[in-house]
Amino acid sequence: MKYISTRGRAPALSFEDAMLSGLARDGGLYVPDSIPQMSAADIRALHGLPYEEVAFRVMRPFVGDGFTDEVFADLIAKAYAGFGHGARAPLVQLAPGHFLLELFHGPTLAFKDFAMQLIGQLFEEALTRRGERVTIVGATSGDTGSAAIEAFRGLDAVDVFILYPHGRVSEVQRRQMTTPVESNVHAIAMDGHFDDCQARLKDMFNDFEFRDGVRLAGVNSINWARVLAQVVYFFSSAVSLGAPDRKVSFTVPTGNFGDIFAGYIAKKMGLPIDRLVVATNQNDILHRCLSTGGYLTDTVTPSISPSMDIQVSSNFERALFDAYGRDGAAVAQLMDELKAGGFNVSQGALQALREHFDSGRVSEEETLATIRDAKDTMGELLCPHSAVGVRVAEAQRDKSVPMITLATAHPAKFPDAVEKASGIRPPLPDRMADLYDRPERVTRAANDLAELQTLIKERIPS
Ligand SMILES: *Cc1c(COP(=O)(O)O)cnc(C)c1O
Repeated sequence: MKYISTRGRAPALSFEDAMLSGLARDGGLYVPDSIPQMSAADIRALHGLPYEEVAFRVMRPFVGDGFTDEVFADLIAKAYAGFGHGARAPLVQLAPGHFLLELFHGPTLAFKDFAMQLIGQLFEEALTRRGERVTIVGATSGDTGSAAIEAFRGLDAVDVFILYPHGRVSEVQRRQMTTPVESNVHAIAMDGHFDDCQARLKDMFNDFEFRDGVRLAGVNSINWARVLAQVVYFFSSAVSLGAPDRKVSFTVPTGNFGDIFAGYIAKKMGLPIDRLVVATNQNDILHRCLSTGGYLTDTVTPSISPSMDIQVSSNFERALFDAYGRDGAAVAQLMDELKAGGFNVSQGALQALREHFDSGRVSEEETLATIRDAKDTMGELLCPHSAVGVRVAEAQRDKSVPMITLATAHPAKFPDAVEKASGIRPPLPDRMADLYDRPERVTRAANDLAELQTLIKERIPS
């Protein structure tokens, strides 16, 4: 299987090369040139299997021969061994016909661990085999950075640098990034907002001399391998509710459109999914776009669900690529218009998007009210992101089709908002209860490309 760029002007790559490069050199995102199918019998055969086995069967056809079956199975086993729940992604019931998929039992308490733990293993294996070393630089509003550091700490073939906006991440998020002791981990607290961190990261990728000099690799959610790892739990949860013999729908708290895009891939592989519902907070570019066709950027308004405070959803480009009949030139044109503020999706493409996706938007007050109500009537303490999902799902679900809402983070990762809403301050799970006692190590940096590049070059082994 080959991977092609959504902008049509970069060479097709193998799974491994697409994973190691992250972003295509024409600025596009890698997608598989065709989607492997799972038959009803293949899906039925997933019933009762451990998560790791489902993961192997769902992902194997995408991965190619860089990894043998045995090695790939072993890497999956290692990736999920550190999770705090034997089911990995347990499904709990909230109400008749409404279920919550708990994706927060990984080492940093957010769903990002599902993909990041696996790609940590895949990177290390591929790079060791090739005798290569890479420098991973990531920008984060909190969860991606902590998950990346946790996944790559102590690995021999990578240095990992994470840029986060100084003073704008939660204390738990910051400590997860600043307390690992391994010397290949570098947390950088940068002046500015998340968008500034992301912009400097993109500058580094567009500086080909720097990019090639340090062997820059990206693990932000545009990395195809991350999307792929997230496809698995759409299968495992749907199967436990009766797929392929019963349809299910999903509601996904959405920022960069990575998680919900994984659901779309599951559907294209043959999983009978009825609706995929995009749930946004007040930063609602996706909800506006699916409602009106206008993809128009606005300023980011900070919210109590900060991991969704995004006004340019990078992975949406992959959905647009399909909606425009896989026309890379058309997508490149839209992305040029985006630089000038936005674009209008064509009628045909909008119709194609609406065949798969619904959307809803939730205000701050509604999010707090949902956390309070879910505790009282559903017996579940939700993080603010998951609450956005539950609210939209309750408003939009068709009672004849089971709805699965993705719980994207543990409530203890956002204790202030949860306490404000519910009066309960959720404690950290025992396995990380000493987080507040560990010493922190962090480098402060200005919002300045040259300074960041110098810092990175100084820190990596030459
Ligand atoms: C990253 C994140 C999201 C948004 O996921 P996307 O794949 O970017 O749409 C939602 N909730 C939490 C807790 C997250 O960390």
